[in-house]
Amino acid sequence: MTKRLVILGGGESGVGTALLARAKGYDVFVSDRGKMKEEYKQVLIHNEIEWEDEKHSEAKILNADLVMKSPGIPNKVPIVSRLIAANIPVISEIEFASKFTEATIVGITGSNGKTTTATLTHHLLMRDLSVGLAGNIGDSFAKQILEHDYGHYVLEISSFQLDDIADFKPKIAVITNITPDHLDRYDYQFENYVASKFRIAMNQTADDYLIYDADDDVIVNHLKNNPVQSTLLPFSLTKTIENGAYYENNNIIITIDNDKITMPTTNLTLEGKHNVKNAMAASTVAHLLKIRKQTIRESLENFQAVEHRLEHVLKINKVQYINDSKATNVNATYYALESMDAPTVWIVGGQDKGNNYTELYSFINEKVKAIICLGVDNSKIIEAFNGMVDVMVETQYMSEAVKIAYKIAEAGDNVLLSPACASFDLFENYEDRGRQFKDAVRNL
Ligand code: ADP
Repeated sequence: MTKRLVILGGGESGVGTALLARAKGYDVFVSDRGKMKEEYKQVLIHNEIEWEDEKHSEAKILNADLVMKSPGIPNKVPIVSRLIAANIPVISEIEFASKFTEATIVGITGSNGKTTTATLTHHLLMRDLSVGLAGNIGDSFAKQILEHDYGHYVLEISSFQLDDIADFKPKIAVITNITPDHLDRYDYQFENYVASKFRIAMNQTADDYLIYDADDDVIVNHLKNNPVQSTLLPFSLTKTIENGAYYENNNIIITIDNDKITMPTTNLTLEGKHNVKNAMAASTVAHLLKIRKQTIRESLENFQAVEHRLEHVLKINKVQYINDSKATNVNATYYALESMDAPTVWIVGGQDKGNNYTELYSFINEKVKAIICLGVDNSKIIEAFNGMVDVMVETQYMSEAVKIAYKIAEAGDNVLLSPACASFDLFENYEDRGRQFKDAVRNL
């Protein structure tokens, strides 16, 4: 009998799943409470897949055999509670899609660094292997499975995708780091969020690998109290690692089963200690998949930073303008400020997520010469940094923020946009914020 798959959410993962499911013979219905994008509607119409938006017709949803819930939809919404109460299985896109591929899967999760590490990993593998890059990046995983025949996938995986897996098992899992984020979806309990990230390893066996940051106490403590079956490959900036990766004298040293490779980081295009960590994680994956050392080294050296992540925009009058709009939490901004090698005019602010700024204080004293607050409500930032810098200015316009920065900055300085906050108070999203920054810089 034909199985009925209902898809909640008609975005990239919803529409991709719809296409894959239809090709696999499911009876598919897509339902979105919000307004769907025109392009997605057209895809569904063109493929004769039934859909609705701006409503959830319960009768058409509660008769599902299986439900794919898009990652943006919390479990608390009434329709999901009703599905759960009715014992109808609710899964995520990666759970559904992975059933239809035999490819080797590299799953990358963490609070920060997922996109950078996934993109870099893909870059290290692509010369020698047939490999797709999916997850929160570009075309959905489901759509790629339908359209390509890759032997490997690198997936960027959010905790929301992991919350709704049952059997999903990556051959290689990476946890970049875990710091508080999205706690509104986890009953404001950090442990719930940590446990959600570790679901990436829950179906792994000793034949599978878990690569993780051994300098991250949250990860290390969780592993101590909740051991996993996976073969562990930690990486560290500060200590020697026998099986895994570490950093010493500007070299990354990776050992797996006594097979050791060494790679210099002096020509790494990515800047900052956090990016050495990302490079260690990505190179460990590459070494596991037997990519040649020479290829890894060359690919590390020609990898360009991902847009909006410590992206060097322009140098004007010897002042370097840097776009780190993707820094939507304090931890990401921590690494941005840490990597600053010159006095910095810092543009910060946006929608607060319960931020605690104290961990940034030492950088403020050491590197920040002026703070430009760019948000609707800047009171928390002003309170946090009051008296720590000579100049503190407020604005609600990106163009003005950049002009003020231009006036303050002197030859040799940096101007850094690293907001530590979400963008939704003044911008559509972080990409919009980053683009407005770059446009304003180019208009100077
Ligand atoms: P994600 O996909 O997890 O949001 P990104 O690669 O998009 O991660 O980076 C998000 C922000 O975090 C950027 O500001 C980036 O510079 C910073 N960042 C990147 N890697 C790390 C890391 N390993 N630790 C902390 N911050 C990082």
